[in-house]
Amino acid sequence: MTIKECNFAGKKAIVRVDFNVPLKDGVITDDTRIRGALPTLKHILEGGGALIIMSHMGKPKGKVKPELSLGQIKEAVAAALGVPEVKFAPDCAKAQEAAAALQPGEVLLLENLRYYPEEEGKPVGVEKGTPEFDEAKKAMKESQKEFAKTLASYADLYVMDAFGTAHRKHASTAVIADYFDADSKMLGFLMEKEVQAVDNVLGNIKRPFIAIMGGSKVSSKIGIIENLLGKVDKLILCGGMTYTFAKAHGGEIGNSIVELDKLDVALNVEKLAAENGVELVMAPDAVIADKFDNDATQKVCPSNAIPEGWEGLDAGPEAQKLFAEAIKGCKTILWNGPAGVFEFDNFCGGSRAIGEAIAEATAEGAFSLIGGGDSVACCTKFGLTDKVSYISTGGGALLEAIEGKVLPGVAAIKG
Ligand code: AMP
Repeated sequence: MTIKECNFAGKKAIVRVDFNVPLKDGVITDDTRIRGALPTLKHILEGGGALIIMSHMGKPKGKVKPELSLGQIKEAVAAALGVPEVKFAPDCAKAQEAAAALQPGEVLLLENLRYYPEEEGKPVGVEKGTPEFDEAKKAMKESQKEFAKTLASYADLYVMDAFGTAHRKHASTAVIADYFDADSKMLGFLMEKEVQAVDNVLGNIKRPFIAIMGGSKVSSKIGIIENLLGKVDKLILCGGMTYTFAKAHGGEIGNSIVELDKLDVALNVEKLAAENGVELVMAPDAVIADKFDNDATQKVCPSNAIPEGWEGLDAGPEAQKLFAEAIKGCKTILWNGPAGVFEFDNFCGGSRAIGEAIAEATAEGAFSLIGGGDSVACCTKFGLTDKVSYISTGGGALLEAIEGKVLPGVAAIKG
């Protein structure tokens, strides 16, 4: 079933969205993810359906954490949807009555799914690798099914629209689909659009193809980096991982972020790049700081000669120029992860240079795909959101899809 074909009149639809929005003092600082889900949510309401919205927020790891309550955003969701009220179910596994009472046009938001360990399905309180762990895992699988079944019991239809978590086989993103027949489950518009954007990149790569991978660590991105080396013509590696590479070559990196157990991984990435004929671009210089603070004293130095007591927080001016030159003229561009601590206005120059170069290349006809909360936040911060081709709401999901993996959230619907 597709969402366009489905008749929602008089039906209750439970929709998995990604409302894991960044909050500061209870206020949403970037509502991209809420806006991303609106086409699906409004379509269901306009079609005469009732909405049960479910999401996770943050990583409460199976425990109730009030600072991660979705109750904080119900007014914002109501305003975004243009409805007078969004009802709230403070326990997502005990929302039967609230769901049953729901009338067409009404909206019920469930509390953070990850207050229950069953959502992610990971056993809690037992160590991995022990015999107890295997037992606990089996038991958890069963209770995850029960949890998914409970969520499914609230509604007639299931809509999966949380691209950000579509790479996870969680109760609400995949397992729940088993409790709906093929005509009662579907992808939402956002999911359809995201899957299409990935197809645009992979199915029709216009060259040169450049990927820009940043962020804090190489370890969390190594899978996609290795995979991209077989696809791209150029690869910019930036952000915190710069210093793991510098260290691997015996450089001095002061207090910069580093993964000492990944030095061989870094060297192997360089080897693979050479073998694949990929131009690897890394920051020759860094903006360094005497503390991790926007107001720290700063200076510029080579990325591999950072004095003791200082840390690299951004790509230096030489690096910014190199990055922009590498991006110029490319026809397919993928950006995931900032080039520095972009959250600090005094250390966002590298990320800005990348964003602006991507916008220019896009104006000249490139297809640019931006993914991951931080890269999206960069585009917002630098006013570039409408100057790139597509902003994905997914980080890990986008990268796994680009790797060519079938996302569990998609497989659950499409089989
Ligand atoms: P990730 O979650 O791995 O994509 O990393 C994103 C985070 O990396 C952002 O919050 C950045 O502030 C951070 N980051 C980028 N460059 C650096 C750096 N040089 N030192 C410390 N953190 C960094």
